[in-house]
Amino acid sequence: MDIMLVPTFSCGTACKTCKTWMFHGTMPVDRFRDLWKRLNDEPEVERLVMNTLGDINTLDNAEEYLHIMDEYHKRPVVFTTNAKRIPFVPHVEAYICSFNGGTKEAYEFTTGLNFEEVQANIRAHYDDFKAKVRDAQVHMVVWSGNRGTEQQFGELWKDFPGHVRLNYRRTNIPERWASEDEKQTAPVRVFCENLSNITVFPDGTCQICTCGISTDLKDPQTYGNVFENSLTELMNHPTRLRLQAEEAKGIYSGACEKCDFNTPIDGKIVYLK
Ligand code: SF4
Ligand code: SF4
Repeated sequence: MDIMLVPTFSCGTACKTCKTWMFHGTMPVDRFRDLWKRLNDEPEVERLVMNTLGDINTLDNAEEYLHIMDEYHKRPVVFTTNAKRIPFVPHVEAYICSFNGGTKEAYEFTTGLNFEEVQANIRAHYDDFKAKVRDAQVHMVVWSGNRGTEQQFGELWKDFPGHVRLNYRRTNIPERWASEDEKQTAPVRVFCENLSNITVFPDGTCQICTCGISTDLKDPQTYGNVFENSLTELMNHPTRLRLQAEEAKGIYSGACEKCDFNTPIDGKIVYLK
């Protein structure tokens, strides 16, 4: 089981693929330290996946969180950043720089960030990626707002010291920005891997996935709190078990209805390098 850890909603941007920027909240650094150690020591935890929403790199005291991660890790860590700011690269299994557009126009339309500045931030850490990261990646989530710029994305990152990846699998695009095909329900569905994981938000509440906050979903599918419940209690929480049982029977409701994460993955991850 993976823990999808969201220590902050802060990300310093306003992407059109996600509404996290409308929310506020950060796990205080002392709470983060205790939780980080506890989760690293839990035998059920396979990986710690950081910043599936938000980005601790954008916090003023980001280094404090990053040093905690760097100094104590028993589980593989996957770290994602929008690379608006990279103060320090910790030793991690995978470091994923999200760069959602192959041209200045598509990138800036999607993220609201500066195309040249973010590229420079990523390039400044090539040596760190080589020295500290087993699997460095730059990836682009393809959606209607940047589709057609995949080739330019590959050209842009041909010197990247790691994988260059296109991701055609996305969570729900907020209604306001979704194209007609992104509003449709896909004909084939599979069991979503996120239902087997636990997503933890800054105040410790657990969610079935990040979609409860990154999309228009009214029911955020909250269950339990990592600061009040044991991991065993959370894993066996009735809400989590009910949603798993529903998808196992082919019932895809709420955010799952139009999400791409419960569609077959074949062909949706394309490695350009
Ligand atoms: S996709 Fe990431 S960087 Fe963009 S608004 Fe959502 S949390 Fe922030
Ligand atoms: S399919 Fe459902 S559980 Fe999976 S990511 Fe989408 S909304 Fe979340």
